[in-house]
Amino acid sequence: MELVSMIVPCYNEQETLEDFYQEISTVRDRLLAMNCDLEVIFVDDGSKDRTLEKMKDLARENPWIKYLSFTRNFGKEAAIYGGLVHGNGDFVGLMDVDLQDPPSLIPEMARILREGEYDCVATRRVDRRGEPVIRSFFARSFYKIMRRISDVEIVDGARDFRLMSRRYADSVLELKEYNRFSKGLFGWVGYKTKWLEYENVERAKGETKWSFFKLFKYSIDGIVGFSEVPVRFAAWIGLMFCALAFIFILVIIVRTLVFGDPVAGWPSLVCIILLLSGIQLFCLGLLGEYLSKTYMEVKKRPVYLCKETNIGAQNREGGEEGV
Ligand code: UDP
Ligand code: MG
Repeated sequence: MELVSMIVPCYNEQETLEDFYQEISTVRDRLLAMNCDLEVIFVDDGSKDRTLEKMKDLARENPWIKYLSFTRNFGKEAAIYGGLVHGNGDFVGLMDVDLQDPPSLIPEMARILREGEYDCVATRRVDRRGEPVIRSFFARSFYKIMRRISDVEIVDGARDFRLMSRRYADSVLELKEYNRFSKGLFGWVGYKTKWLEYENVERAKGETKWSFFKLFKYSIDGIVGFSEVPVRFAAWIGLMFCALAFIFILVIIVRTLVFGDPVAGWPSLVCIILLLSGIQLFCLGLLGEYLSKTYMEVKKRPVYLCKETNIGAQNREGGEEGV
């Protein structure tokens, strides 16, 4: 009998946990019918409400429910990593707790993985119904830019909802970077991925945890993590302006020789200084972005710290908590 480990990051989700449990229980029965066991690993990402208590209640009644709880909010990426470290299944899956990812797809995903042709079954939304227009616009633009400037394939509308084979999950675990951008990491590891599509479902209860600012920061993480084009772009702009300045100097010398030197033009000078210092600052900012990421990586801080769990002491790393 194969084991499916479903990793479910939760941050302040006390309202949604119960509904999720109902749905996933029926899915578990369907999986058992096809000779597949299911364990759910709830990752409490430092929730400030009663999320952890709810998880403990569920775990007490159901031995197939596991939980681990972080010392503070480390972000969804860290929660995903923490879950992956503890998921021992033959198939390892990821999904949100808010039922925006239809749990009913899991048996189908397991069936596809079992056939052995694919190592990952992932999902994408075909529309962004129910999402603010501005947010959709920026999201789409982000994917467009990413596709152009990064070698790694990042699919538009891809959700984190996916089921992976053991070896695929192990490969993702081998990427131990601190600045994690899962959508990129999943593309980076390769293998064959089958994409299932579904229409956007609105959140069952509770609120989205992503503010516009958080999403913006996330997209910068994605770009900086998976592309060197922006720093190269800075060098190109610099070169272009050097060339322009050189032509300008020539023009001014020739003009002075031919027409003499009428004193004029300080406004244009100010404009040029402003423009150039703007560009310089922009390029410095770009460099800083990469440097700060490198700084965080070099420190080798743990991606998360776990304060309590009902999962046995040994994990996939064989080491201590807080990998
Ligand atoms: N989440 C998390 N840590 C965070 C933010 C979100 O673990 O810091 C979880 C959240 O509980 C949910 C999932 O990530 O299960 C997706 O969050 P949300 O539904 O708010 O995102 P959206 O669906 O709007 O992209
Ligand atoms: Mg959601």
